Amino acid sequence: MKRLENKVALVTGGSRGIGAAIAKRLAAEGADVAITYVSSPEKAQAVAKEIDATGRKSLVIAADNADPEAVTAAVNKTVAELGRVDILVNSAGIFDARPFETHTMEDYDRMMDINVRAVYVAIQAALPHMPNGGRIITLGSNLADLVGAPGMTLYSMSKSALIGLTKGLARDLGAKEITVNLVAPGPTDTDMNPANGQYADYQRGKMAIPKYGSAENIAAMVALIASEEGRSINGATLTVDGGVNA
Ligand code: NDP
Repeated sequence: MKRLENKVALVTGGSRGIGAAIAKRLAAEGADVAITYVSSPEKAQAVAKEIDATGRKSLVIAADNADPEAVTAAVNKTVAELGRVDILVNSAGIFDARPFETHTMEDYDRMMDINVRAVYVAIQAALPHMPNGGRIITLGSNLADLVGAPGMTLYSMSKSALIGLTKGLARDLGAKEITVNLVAPGPTDTDMNPANGQYADYQRGKMAIPKYGSAENIAAMVALIASEEGRSINGATLTVDGGVNA
């Protein structure tokens, strides 16, 4: 029997990068998987096709994390079509690096709405449909712990908020044996942070092992947390950064 047989997962931002790798890995482990996207319908459909090829059910939902009603609707659609949410993975996120003085209130709202409020909303919507023993896994960042360079205040602030959310919720949901964890990647080769990008060599210079991680590396950590083997991992921030923060 596969580790996630008969489980239902919802992965926000599952059309590309880390979220896509997580969606495919959870399906390979036996779960039916719903994914959301905002701007890449073809890529989302391609991920769904790969999920279908594993024999598991897929569901593709357009839902902008900036819109709380859309996030709630995505959870409700997952429940309506796949029955419940055993595993909620909040992967959708945006990055913005610029001098702090140039940020506007709109920038603040956008970053916090997408990276923080949507996570809160998705969890609140999913909880009534999450059986005991469920899993809530959110993508943070190693930059929440060690920023190391200017220009990333807004982003690191948004990811730091997720640490408090994770710890508080782990306490709130312990009685239901629902675990709540944050996975904090370091440099990971995706559209957001390509291994051949302008700042890639700088980031490699900060790593103990100077090689970008892959989205699949992050997905492997998420799969462990999601499985029964991971039931004691709770309220934790699991840093997967090649030793940047070591
Ligand atoms: P990518 O930019 O490569 O992919 C982002 C994904 O999130 C896409 O599926 C995208 O959908 C979706 N998304 C973006 N904005 C929204 C929105 N407003 N509503 C719904 N979905 C949205 O990012 P990564 O895969 O690299 O990052 C995934 C997570 O990991 C993020 O939370 C990020 O902050 C975090 N992270 C990444 C690191 C890295 O080095 N890559 C390092 C540390 C943390 P669409 O395709 O439709 O645009």
